[in-house]
Amino acid sequence: MGYIVSPQGFAEVIAALRDTYRILAPVRKKGAGRFLDVDAILYEEIADASQIELNAKSDYASKECLTPLSETLFYFTEQERKEADLDPRPMLVFGRSCDLHALARLDAVYLRNGKEKDAFYERRRRSIRYALIGCGESFANCFCVDMGTNRVTEGYVFSVDLIGGEIHADVPDTEIAKLFAAAGGREESVVPRFVTENQVHVSIPETVPPPVLKDPLWDEYDARCIGCGRCNFVCPTCTCYTMQDVFYTDNGKVGERRRVAASCMVDGYTNVAGGGQYRRKNGQRMRFKVLHKISHFKKRFGFQMCVGCGRCDDVCPEYISYSNIINKVNAAAQAAGKE
Ligand code: SF4
Ligand code: SF4
Repeated sequence: MGYIVSPQGFAEVIAALRDTYRILAPVRKKGAGRFLDVDAILYEEIADASQIELNAKSDYASKECLTPLSETLFYFTEQERKEADLDPRPMLVFGRSCDLHALARLDAVYLRNGKEKDAFYERRRRSIRYALIGCGESFANCFCVDMGTNRVTEGYVFSVDLIGGEIHADVPDTEIAKLFAAAGGREESVVPRFVTENQVHVSIPETVPPPVLKDPLWDEYDARCIGCGRCNFVCPTCTCYTMQDVFYTDNGKVGERRRVAASCMVDGYTNVAGGGQYRRKNGQRMRFKVLHKISHFKKRFGFQMCVGCGRCDDVCPEYISYSNIINKVNAAAQAAGKE
């Protein structure tokens, strides 16, 4: 079922949904970007529909609504442990096709990567629903078409595309469909927009032969990459975290445990007892990250980890292009295969 509704009607739908949901969406922050004249598009809870940025890709992915950068898991005393409360209201999160495809990657890691599911992830996952923002055009650095993540046909309660000053919405959820009808929506067949062509293309090798691990292509990143980790923190599919126990100062045995996002590109990630560090050079870290995204994850779960959103390229202060690296790995793999 689909509806075409005026922006005012859409605002009424969002207002009605706020009775049930906390609504999180990409919001444009003037001048909050990398330079003073650059905006940032960040996720936050919205109060009305006009705050939703529909025309640009968010800097951070919708992942952070599900796996916050810092999350208190539980509180502890000497005798007891208490799980942190979650806001009882379910969340409705706006995301693009790449964000929704990334959910399958997060689910694989948190729910199917061993005997136990991650209970803290699972409880948030259960309380979250998604609204799809259609993509009328490809944004800079996107290569979702080559990754097969440019389109979703399910997993959202409604979609939204701003076309000719009106909101076009595919609304599979029958309860939410009633809200669109009540807001004056014209019932029509609507297909969410999706891109069929990106400017950026990647070729991923079927296998990565061992010589690629020692290929000089990685050395470039020893110098160029500064190990800031921005590429990881914006990635909708990076899942690494570290644990931090925060002890309250008045009583050093009482405190809370936090799960905090970590980055395989940042110093300290591979530190081990005795002063060892497995990947000291940034080129080695880059190799680990890239091969995890385009090879190792697939070996375990059967599909690619990277969804081709291009956010890592968007934010890298050294203008390092991850899609370029994929193509360099492919060239090195082809060359190694001919030897
Ligand atoms: S590695 Fe880069 S392009 Fe791939 S999903 Fe992560 S941020 Fe997006
Ligand atoms: S964002 Fe760029 S410089 Fe920073 S760690 Fe990633 S690749 Fe290196």
